[in-house]
Amino acid sequence: MIPVIALVGRPNVGKSTLFNRLTRSRDALVADLPGLTRDRQYGHAKIEGRPFIIIDTGGITGGEVGIDGYMAEQSKLAVQEADIVLFLLDARAGLTAVDENLARELRTFGKPVHLVVNKIDGINAEAAIADFYALGFSSVNPIAAGHGRGVNVLAEEVLLPLASDEALEEAERERTKHPKIAIVGRPNVGKSTLVNRMLGEERVVVFDMPGTTRDSIYIDMERREKPYTIIDTAGVRRRGKVRETVEKFSVLKTLQAIEDANVVIMVFDAREGITEQDLSLLRFVMEAGRSLVISINKWDGMTAEQREAVKSEVNRRMVFADFARMHFISALHGSGVGDLFDSVDEAFNSANVEMSASKLTRELEIAVAKHPPPTVKGFRSKLRYAHPGGHNPPRIVIHGNRTTKLPESYQRYLIKHFIKVLNIVGTPIKLELKEGK
Ligand code: GDP
Ligand code: GDP
Repeated sequence: MIPVIALVGRPNVGKSTLFNRLTRSRDALVADLPGLTRDRQYGHAKIEGRPFIIIDTGGITGGEVGIDGYMAEQSKLAVQEADIVLFLLDARAGLTAVDENLARELRTFGKPVHLVVNKIDGINAEAAIADFYALGFSSVNPIAAGHGRGVNVLAEEVLLPLASDEALEEAERERTKHPKIAIVGRPNVGKSTLVNRMLGEERVVVFDMPGTTRDSIYIDMERREKPYTIIDTAGVRRRGKVRETVEKFSVLKTLQAIEDANVVIMVFDAREGITEQDLSLLRFVMEAGRSLVISINKWDGMTAEQREAVKSEVNRRMVFADFARMHFISALHGSGVGDLFDSVDEAFNSANVEMSASKLTRELEIAVAKHPPPTVKGFRSKLRYAHPGGHNPPRIVIHGNRTTKLPESYQRYLIKHFIKVLNIVGTPIKLELKEGK
C-alpha cells in the first residue's frame, strides 16, 4: 500500500509550505470533499518515482488548529490515517509549550514521529535545533521548506525507506495482469449503484468480496471469460437487500484505490454538473498516471436541453482529461454500463501497450522530420533516440542534447504523435527526457 504521511504542528510553522514542496502543487489536489472537515488536504507526492500520499492538517482556516495544545479533531484523524507523522516546529520561535503538549499527545497514537525543524534559513541550524531534542524524539530533521533546503534529505532519509523497491515492483507487476478498476467519485454520484450494475452484467461470475468496512472492497469477477477486479470505494450493498447506512466517504480510501488500480472509472452526477471536488479528484487520478474512463451518471430522465448543457460544461472544464473515453450512463437503469467494460479493456491494453526501442526511435525521427524542435535562445534540442520506460502509464524515454530545454508545447506535440501511432486511448503517456548519450 502507498505510504501515507501526516504533517502536523502549530499554525504557521510551515506545514502548507512543506506540503506544496512535496506535492509540487500550489493547491492541494484534493481538498474540501464533503464528508470531512475542510481542514484536511490530501496530496500526491512522487519521490524518486515512488508514490506517497501527504496529508496536510490545518493551514486553511488556521484559527481552530492546535489551540492550547489540544490537537484539533482533523489532526487526530490525519495521524490515525498515516503511517508516519512529520511533526513540524519553527526553528525561529524555538520550543513552545504548545509544541510540548502536541508531542505528548502525538505519543499516545503509537505512530512513528519525526521532528521537522523548519525555517533554518539564515540562522545557525545546529544551535536552532538543539532545543528540540528535549522533546525526546530521535529523528530531528532541520529544513527550510520555503527555500527547499533539507527537503530532499528529509524525503530520502525519512520518507523513501517507507517505500520498498519490492513492493513497488510487485504493485507494477500486479497492474499488468488484468483490469483492476477503481470506481471513484463524490458521495451520492451513484458509485454503489454502478458497482451493483457491473456485477449484474450478464455472465458475470463474482468470486469473492473480501474486505472490511474500513477498506475498499475488492471484488474479483469475470465477464465474457475475462477477469476483472473491481475496487469498490463506496462499499457494495447486495442487491435485493435493504440498503445499509451509507458508509462515510473517505478521501484516503479513494486515493489509495486510485493508486492501487490500473484503470479508474470516475463517476460524475449529471444533475449536479462538474464541481470543484470532482476536478480535484480528477487531477489526482492524472497525477497518479492512471488510465481513466469517465462516466457521467444519472443520464436518465434529463431533457435534451439539460443534456446539452452538461455536455458543453464537460467539454469546457475537462479538456485536461480529454484522453479519456466518456460515457453517459444510467447506473439505475443499466443503460450504457456494458459499454464501460469496452473502454476499460481499451484503456488497460493501452496502459500496457507493447513498445520497442526501434519503433519508438523510428517514430521519434518521423515526428522530428515533420516538425523539428524550435530553436530556444539560438539553440535547438537534438533528439537522438527513444526507448520504453515502463507501463501504467506508458513511459517513453528520449535521449538527446538539450532535451531539458524542450518546450512544453513541443513535448505535447510528441506525446500526440506517439498516442496516435501506438493507438493509445484512455491512458496518459509520459515522456522522460534524458541528456546525452
Ligand atoms: P502552516 O500554517 O503551518 O501551514 O504554515 P505555512 O506553510 O502557511 O507558513 C507560515 C509562514 O511561514 C508563511 O509566511 C511562510 O512563508 C513562512 N515559512 C514557511 N517556511 C519557511 C521557511 O523555510 N523559512 C522562512 N523564513 N519562512 C517560512
Ligand atoms: P454513491 O454514494 O456514489 O455510492 O451513490 P449511490 O449509488 O448510493 O447513489 C446515490 C443515489 O443516487 C441513490 O438514491 C441512487 O438510487 C441514485 N442513483 C444512482 N444512479 C442513478 C441513476 O443512474 N439515475 C438516477 N436517477 N438516480 C441514480
